[in-house]
Amino acid sequence: MGAHVLVVEDEEKLARFVELELVHEGYEVTKVYDGREALDLAIQGDFDLILLDIMLPGLNGLEVLRRLQGSKPTPTILLTARDAVMDKVSGLDAGAVDYITKPFAIEELLARVRVALKLHGKEAGRGMAGGEQAEEDEYTWGVCKLSKKRHMVTYDGHEITLTNREFLMLETLLSNQDIVLSRDTLLEKVCGYDYIGETNVIDVYIRYLRSKIDDAYNVKMIQTVRGVGYVIKSEGEV
Ligand code: CA
Repeated sequence: MGAHVLVVEDEEKLARFVELELVHEGYEVTKVYDGREALDLAIQGDFDLILLDIMLPGLNGLEVLRRLQGSKPTPTILLTARDAVMDKVSGLDAGAVDYITKPFAIEELLARVRVALKLHGKEAGRGMAGGEQAEEDEYTWGVCKLSKKRHMVTYDGHEITLTNREFLMLETLLSNQDIVLSRDTLLEKVCGYDYIGETNVIDVYIRYLRSKIDDAYNVKMIQTVRGVGYVIKSEGEV
């Protein structure tokens, strides 16, 4: 059986659509339309991932997330309305692993579900099982440390908050130090092999990472190789 996903969305058509797509991918799905019911279910049940709308009857999604973090932390992807920047920030602060803006392409949602489950050590849907080899847990570059198990990045002991994709991007670069990675390679690692969209999304994530690490700590960790891609050099400029 695939991972068990709790879908919390009061727009019933959307909830149904997401449920069908997830079931098609081999996940087990429970759906619920109300925030308070969602919280009860999430605490009683054993879900691998929660897709959580923010504007909900009963209890809003952020409140569900906060209470859940206090009692039963479960990887959660928030569904937010377009342009609700504050929701995104509050959501990530409250412990969401990712968010997706409505309206979204279903492929995008499925890709994020896969990434979130992979990051949290869960099996994906049917047909993707097995082969989870023992991998290294920690990568370092100078005083920058990334721990997969703890899903945490620190620089000289200071925690750096990254989104799932930024984290995956950094993990990919750190685990391949001195190897120049093309945008296509990074795209596949970060967004999934069936990602449909622009490869310049990679440049955007690189920019985010640089602002959070390179600029914040005045280092040159991520190097651009013109016309090829990006690399972190083990003997880089610290
Ligand atoms: Ca809603």
